[in-house]
Amino acid sequence: MAGVSRLQYSTEIRLIRVMCSGRVDLEFIFRAFSNGMDGVFIGGCRLNECNYITQGNYDALNVALLSKKIMAHIGMNPERLSVEFMSSGEGNLFTEVVDDFSKKVKALGPLGKGKEIDEDELKSKLAEVRKLVPYIKIVERKKLASRLENPEEYEGLFTSDGIDKLFREAVSYYIDPDKCQACMICRKRCPVEAIAGGKSQIHVIDQDKCIKCGTCYEVCPPRFAAVSQISGEPVPPPIPEEQRTIVRKSKKT
Ligand code: SF4
Ligand code: SF4
Repeated sequence: MAGVSRLQYSTEIRLIRVMCSGRVDLEFIFRAFSNGMDGVFIGGCRLNECNYITQGNYDALNVALLSKKIMAHIGMNPERLSVEFMSSGEGNLFTEVVDDFSKKVKALGPLGKGKEIDEDELKSKLAEVRKLVPYIKIVERKKLASRLENPEEYEGLFTSDGIDKLFREAVSYYIDPDKCQACMICRKRCPVEAIAGGKSQIHVIDQDKCIKCGTCYEVCPPRFAAVSQISGEPVPPPIPEEQRTIVRKSKKT
């Protein structure tokens, strides 16, 4: 409505249209900051006025609440993210909140150049967060599906302690070379091709590619139980390639 009514609003904002505010993924927010945006504004339909049954605006709210806690955890000012709900007919309200947000972000200054967090550190922390997005979404899936009716409950949905713990205890997955029987199930099921291995080769996980979805842990047959979860300690390095071949008993004889 703001455009149709020719209403003026901040020229510093770049609009990205999505079919529903629920489409705004955690990754989108941190990608925007990684790409140099100083602030992110999410606009959605009024809560409980969804035209469909999906109520995606609650998803957007939860993603924003989670993102704000993550931002605080890595040393960013959470005020750089805002979520507001309004109807498509409220063009005046849209211009008002966008202008206010724009002013607020301007007052905070460019991201990575002020008091908050040093630019290089910010870069590496944002990269760490983005890598953990699938894991964070799995761990927090129940809370991300909440429908909080009372704004007073917003602050308590995700806590700073909970987010600190989530990052501190983020699990890694490791394949025990003494247990792996090269059945190849985990390699086929890994969604990001992070597992290397062949028919008679002990499988190994590329920790840089792994998104910690836990699928390999779940699908490794219990009789092998070769995949383990590691938390709070370094993951052992993968065994050298020349030591990965499995010699089956039948072939030995
Ligand atoms: S946890 Fe396992 S299945 Fe999931 S991405 Fe990592 S290696 Fe692949
Ligand atoms: S599913 Fe288990 S036994 Fe099979 S290749 Fe993967 S780690 Fe090895």
